[in-house]
Amino acid sequence: MGLWAAVHAERLGIRTLLVEGGRFGQGASGGLLGALMPHMPDKWSDKKQFQFDALVALEEEIAVMEAETGLSAGYRRAGRLIPLPKPHLRQIALGHSQDAEVHWRHRDRQFHWHVLDAAPVEGWIEPSLAESGFVHDTLAARVAPRALLEVLCRSLAGAGDVRLAEGVAVGSIDPDKGLARTNQGDIRFGHCILAAGYRSFPILDALTDNRKASLGQPVKGQAAMLKADIDGGMPVIFRDGLYIVPHENGLVAVGSTSENRFDDPLSTDGQLDDLLDAARAMAPVLAGAEVVERWAGLRPKAVDRDPMVGAHPDHPSLIALTGGFKVSFGLAHRLAEAAVREAVGVPGRFDLPQSFTLASHISVI
Ligand SMILES: Cc1cc2nc3c(=O)[nH]c(=O)nc-3n(C[C@H](O)[C@H](O)[C@H](O)COP(=O)(O)OP(=O)(O)OC[C@H]3O[C@@H](n4cnc5c(N)ncnc54)[C@H](O)[C@@H]3O)c2cc1C
Repeated sequence: MGLWAAVHAERLGIRTLLVEGGRFGQGASGGLLGALMPHMPDKWSDKKQFQFDALVALEEEIAVMEAETGLSAGYRRAGRLIPLPKPHLRQIALGHSQDAEVHWRHRDRQFHWHVLDAAPVEGWIEPSLAESGFVHDTLAARVAPRALLEVLCRSLAGAGDVRLAEGVAVGSIDPDKGLARTNQGDIRFGHCILAAGYRSFPILDALTDNRKASLGQPVKGQAAMLKADIDGGMPVIFRDGLYIVPHENGLVAVGSTSENRFDDPLSTDGQLDDLLDAARAMAPVLAGAEVVERWAGLRPKAVDRDPMVGAHPDHPSLIALTGGFKVSFGLAHRLAEAAVREAVGVPGRFDLPQSFTLASHISVI
């Protein structure tokens, strides 16, 4: 989120310092999965429209930065397969298919929620788990999280107005004095965008009077990367919280657990082994695949579950940019743009859903 904010600040020519307490990518964003999953196409809303527009725009955003940096972000609109184990799920999916024809349209591009009897690709998903067929959605995509961070960092390396600093940890923020205290000394700012992942919540809590609850919490997730002989163009498989995400060079990411309570934020355990077993049952071609990495991270989940973006109602020079929870990768570029434009009073290019605003989150606690 912070790196995207820096990209937008650079585009608008705003003098900016982006500080990171450790190394860029050491938080939730430096993981393995990178699934870019649209919301269901039914019950359309401003939130779903915002996410749809963001998912469509990301392809072009990444292509531009890849061309600029000569690096690959491992992006591909590979689509998604959802097995339908029961007849009533097929009926629901057929309704969603019609919804997608109406809502998943962008200029001359139409994305689909096909309901199929058989998977559109051979040798990937186990057919016996889909008695009532499959959904094949053509909007979903994937990106390689660490490669994307590298592209973002590289694109900012030569930026005139933006400086990046690692190893600068913010201890406290006094927005009214325009002061951030860090382990490397004080930083004075006109506006401060707070994109510290789940660590943003206690900082915002401390600045919010009369609250009865925290503005958000960390939710742990575990994932793994396998090395298999898989074409990176295969669709992402999704069912009941299990994601199987093919990447380039035969790498396949499997995730994710969702843990509100945990002892060790960064360890992996038997819950990940269970996910891997489920993945191997879903895609038998992964049976002999070597596990090359096990990883865990903490997602920022805002109190109202939606992203948390925008000025603090009592401290307008402090702008939140967090709460992407499970869908940050598909939204971060647009959320960051909204945050930067709000910070400097430049009109936004699109409407941020009201429920995404920090003010809206504060109103529910
Ligand atoms: C297992 C797992 C799988 C996931 N899969 C997906 C997926 O498929 N698709 C998707 O869209 N999302 C996914 N997510 C969610 C996604 O990773 C997060 O929502 C996203 O990375 C959050 O980005 P962020 O920039 O808000 O936070 P972070 O990436 O955590 O970045 C915050 C940064 O701020 C730094 N920081 C914190 N406090 C301070 C301080 N005081 N001073 C200076 N620096 C500080 C941290 O070091 C960190 O680098 C997944 C998450 C997990 C854990």
